[in-house]
Amino acid sequence: MTTLEDCRALDGQDPLRALRELFTIPPELIYLDGNSLGVMPKAAPERVARAVTEEWGVGLIRSWNSAGWYEMPQRLGDKVAGLIGARAGEVVVTDTTSINLYKVLSAALKVARRHSTGRSVVVSERSNFPTDLYIAQALCKEQGCELHLVEDEDVEAAMADDVAVLMLTQVNYRTGALHDMRAVTQAAHAAGVLVVWDLAHSAGAVPVDLHQADADFAIGCGYKYLNGGPGAPAFVWVHSRHRDEFEQPLAGWWSHAAPFEFTPDYRPAAGIARYLCGTQPVLSLVALECGLDTMLAAEPLGGMAALRRKSLALTDLFIRLVEERCAGHGLGLATPRDHGRRGSQVCLTRSEGAHAIVQALIARGVIGDFRAGDARQPDILRFGFTPLYIGFEDVWNAVEQLKQVLDSGEWQRPEFHQKQAVT
Ligand SMILES: *Cc1c(COP(=O)(O)O)cnc(C)c1O
Repeated sequence: MTTLEDCRALDGQDPLRALRELFTIPPELIYLDGNSLGVMPKAAPERVARAVTEEWGVGLIRSWNSAGWYEMPQRLGDKVAGLIGARAGEVVVTDTTSINLYKVLSAALKVARRHSTGRSVVVSERSNFPTDLYIAQALCKEQGCELHLVEDEDVEAAMADDVAVLMLTQVNYRTGALHDMRAVTQAAHAAGVLVVWDLAHSAGAVPVDLHQADADFAIGCGYKYLNGGPGAPAFVWVHSRHRDEFEQPLAGWWSHAAPFEFTPDYRPAAGIARYLCGTQPVLSLVALECGLDTMLAAEPLGGMAALRRKSLALTDLFIRLVEERCAGHGLGLATPRDHGRRGSQVCLTRSEGAHAIVQALIARGVIGDFRAGDARQPDILRFGFTPLYIGFEDVWNAVEQLKQVLDSGEWQRPEFHQKQAVT
């Protein structure tokens, strides 16, 4: 049996332990929802205040040049690039994940169909994040294509002659299951299919190497594991072999070759700047840069490889403790045990009461979240483990609270059965 002392010993040996000090985490809170909204970097309030009072308040329009506002999508993009196996100059931070998906999927369809007119199908997973499926549905309707949804294990078999693009999220938001990016990309390419990867639950959570995987297009989210703050801008990467073939469906002036010439005709920028659209949300970019800098602070301590080792140790420990200490309470495991197939979260299942159990945990200061089940799976209690700031004792305490909620049956109280707008 694993003990509290074992967990404390693991914290004592953790080379990444000091990184927790880079964040403001409310005391008495065990925050296991960094996969949905990351915690606040300690540097953020002062940095955002300076952007407001000095750069905006005093510098005003001069700050586009003097405070480096104009280059922020590229500067932050370079910081993201190092986390996803992209090169400097290949990534821009801009817009939302949904909007960036619209751009890259539109580009992927155009590129794929230019060379092979018989291809008119987009394949994705039925359990993909809904916004990805909605954007794909809208684009397919617009371009006379068809969206074909399959189960996780059927993706490779679905690479038929009429498929143009495979659009996948590398780590499933609901189960935490991880795709082998390289193997899936190779199988798709062998069938003549381009691949769009959504890295929303990957960037900052698992090692990603877009070039090694020979990926085509990738997008991802700034407010989850990158700790960029609520609604932080997202990022977009495109392999250079496709980059200049792209025709912007959202041809805003920031994607123009020379925005400040104010010419009436559109001429796309060279390189990844072509994927920008309009004026960027500077204050949000400033906050996101604080989050990216906390990721970069892990570099001298072993970087993404060390974060991954710790993430797997945390999720292994959580699974082990739940199985040792909460046995007999009807909990199942939706997340793969295989390290090669697991992201940085653990999803427990329960046929009854999952939502109320999560609410009871939140009332006790353990924040996870609830995701409704589907035809293949019961309801899910979802717990994200962000190795930058979660410790092994936190895992012990979270399982202890879960055990108490289940042992006492307190989750059955009526106040835990009310649904709120955001779950
Ligand atoms: C979180 C998430 C998004 C979020 O998209 P927004 O445009 O930021 O709302 C999109 N896709 C996936 C897979 C996600 O996990």
